[in-house]
Amino acid sequence: MYQTSPESTIATEHRADALVCTALPALQDNYIWVLDDGAQAVVVDPGQAAPVQAMLRARQLQLAAILLTHHHADHVAGVPALLADAPGAPVFGPAVEAIATVDRPVRGGERVAVPGLALDFQVLDTPGHTRGHIAFYSADARLGAPRLFCGDTLFACGCGRLFEGTPEQMHASLGGFAALPDTTRVHCAHEYTLANIRFALACEPGNRVLQAFDREASALREKGQPTVPTTLGDERARNPFLRVDVPEIAATLEARAGRAVPPGAPRFAALRAWKDVFQP
Ligand SMILES: [Zn+2]
Repeated sequence: MYQTSPESTIATEHRADALVCTALPALQDNYIWVLDDGAQAVVVDPGQAAPVQAMLRARQLQLAAILLTHHHADHVAGVPALLADAPGAPVFGPAVEAIATVDRPVRGGERVAVPGLALDFQVLDTPGHTRGHIAFYSADARLGAPRLFCGDTLFACGCGRLFEGTPEQMHASLGGFAALPDTTRVHCAHEYTLANIRFALACEPGNRVLQAFDREASALREKGQPTVPTTLGDERARNPFLRVDVPEIAATLEARAGRAVPPGAPRFAALRAWKDVFQP
């Protein structure tokens, strides 16, 4: 069955004008995000159809649209089966990636209007994990807080691996989130939090916000609860990939390298390369 996200105030308020946001665990450690108004639903990165179909049936929801952040199978493989149940539902995805099911290719700077929900998203270009990765952002009042659906770009205390892009691209993609408010909920696509915290603590052992989140996230996982969404404000306070230039992280990187590492993208690159080989 499906499970609501821990940040459940919206789900439990039952306000007529509120949208419900649900995290559906899928595959190994993916989350498929679903937003609905009680009648229509928009689904983000359905790597698997079955959990979405079960939720849509249980809540008697119509599929209004699908949003895709990038081409990896664990984000798109469920789309054909969902479209078989809801022919004609638009599929929005990155214009510069070849995804057969995408019929509404979009790129950074464009807006996506989800039919049926009167819900708008701003598209952000976030290359790095893949060449054409995009994210979707909405500040619609019915969401309770601004929402960022960032796929495999930003994770709780981590960031995506660089399969196709460069460290410079990923550093710039994460920098692009700087304009978004601290209250923005970060809806990433994987439950990688505990492993990411191990690495973050190696980078910045003295970070008390991180230490507190370690305890909080461990307790959530023991109860089988998602650790996400987090907020951008929290990520700015504890995610090493958004903090490459704080003194403790810079000092850790320079001690490892045995030399000065220039600020910005070079520090980000050193951090990402270390994470690739890090054994918790
Ligand atoms: Zn991916």
